[in-house]
Amino acid sequence: MTSKRPRIGIMGGTFDPVHYGHLVTAEGARCEYKLDQVLFLPSGKPPHKSMSKVSDAEHRYMMTVLATLTNPHFEVSRLDIDREGVSYTIDSLRSLQRFYGPEAELFFITGADAIFEITGWKDSDEYLTIAHFIAAARPGFCLEELPVATQRWVGQHGDRFHVLNVPAMAISSTEIRERVKKGISIRYLVPEPVEHYIMRHNLYL
Ligand code: ATP
Ligand code: MG
Repeated sequence: MTSKRPRIGIMGGTFDPVHYGHLVTAEGARCEYKLDQVLFLPSGKPPHKSMSKVSDAEHRYMMTVLATLTNPHFEVSRLDIDREGVSYTIDSLRSLQRFYGPEAELFFITGADAIFEITGWKDSDEYLTIAHFIAAARPGFCLEELPVATQRWVGQHGDRFHVLNVPAMAISSTEIRERVKKGISIRYLVPEPVEHYIMRHNLYL
């Protein structure tokens, strides 16, 4: 008897705050690649973002939990936020590979902007030996022609690199933070419970 290998999506991000662009991308990847689960992984200390500008990890974690509650296939992991020091993607991938075991197939989901930067990330040569990578369309970033550095990074692992078209959402957390600061509505850009959480905790003012 053969049992199906579990297929696990991993959606990494700062999620400051989580928005519908993240959710549409995760759900699109889940459906297209028949993932059993998508694990949202809020970063602890992101290496590329100044910590003074990033909201407390507990706020980012709570908002991600609120946003994903109604999808039975979505879960949120504390792996990165509970880890001391800077969050490197390679450390998360190695930990998740150990946690899920060799049977599981891991799919790391990123937006187009992140896939273009990936070659500069720590030990990125190892990524595709651990997980598949799904690069999702994001307005402003064309995935039809990958930059040479990204092509080189994919190298002989082409079968583990996937481009995904999701309904384009020109939303970013940066824009949401700016809107809150200026008192502009963020309704329908983030799930309602996230909007309430932001207001209640006076985030981004
Ligand atoms: P910020 O503006 O603070 O950088 P962000 O909106 O880019 O926030 P992140 O938490 O940095 O969100 O992104 C997490 C992941 O989600 C990244 O892989 C990013 O490319 C992807 N992503 C973010 N917004 C979108 C979107 N609108 N459509 C598709 N992917 C997205
Ligand atoms: Mg970003």
